[in-house]
Amino acid sequence: MTMNLILMGLPGAGKGTQAETIIKNYGIPHISTGDIFRAAIKNQTEMGIKAKQYIDKGNLVPDDVTCGIVKDRLAQDDTKKGYMLDGFPRTLDQANALQKISSDLDRPLDAVINIDVDPKILIDRLSGRFICKNCGATYHKLYKKPKVDNTCDICGGHEFYQRSDDKPETVKNRLDVNIKMNTPLIDFYKGLDLLYTVDGSQNIDNVTEDIDKILKNL
Ligand SMILES: [Zn+2]
Repeated sequence: MTMNLILMGLPGAGKGTQAETIIKNYGIPHISTGDIFRAAIKNQTEMGIKAKQYIDKGNLVPDDVTCGIVKDRLAQDDTKKGYMLDGFPRTLDQANALQKISSDLDRPLDAVINIDVDPKILIDRLSGRFICKNCGATYHKLYKKPKVDNTCDICGGHEFYQRSDDKPETVKNRLDVNIKMNTPLIDFYKGLDLLYTVDGSQNIDNVTEDIDKILKNL
């Protein structure tokens, strides 16, 4: 039995937390595009050298190079029992390329797990952070409220602000970009009968349980 996975989820859906639990519980490598790019460049692999040439010029790395880096990584021995891809594929072209790569390497996908959360909830999660104007202490309207309403725990200040990255309209734009990117991929994997959707609006432990159920039944 293998566990060849893709983990998907919008920003704020809890993908990072669940990824950690999955790799710990099942002992499969977590293959995130950022990490394997850095490793390929550091080790000066053929694909790493190519990727660096694009990055140094400030250009996007083309799909054939990105897919080459993923292929090199999936070809390593530690993926024999399984792997969990994170941040790849991002486009339909890459998804099609991955079908070929994974079948060439005899590591075909077993499941694509999408941690699904209503974007409205994600906006609340991601835009909740606010900062004390006086001392810089950070708070969150859902997870870390000041003990006394509108009063800083540290300095007693009453004035707060939000970083522009944390403002609801910025967060919404970021989510919209990701939704636009993820939707065709979700349809693609649904069509291949590989998609498993988990309700990510539950608490973390319940999301983990739901993912476990899926993985144990593969
Ligand atoms: Zn303060």
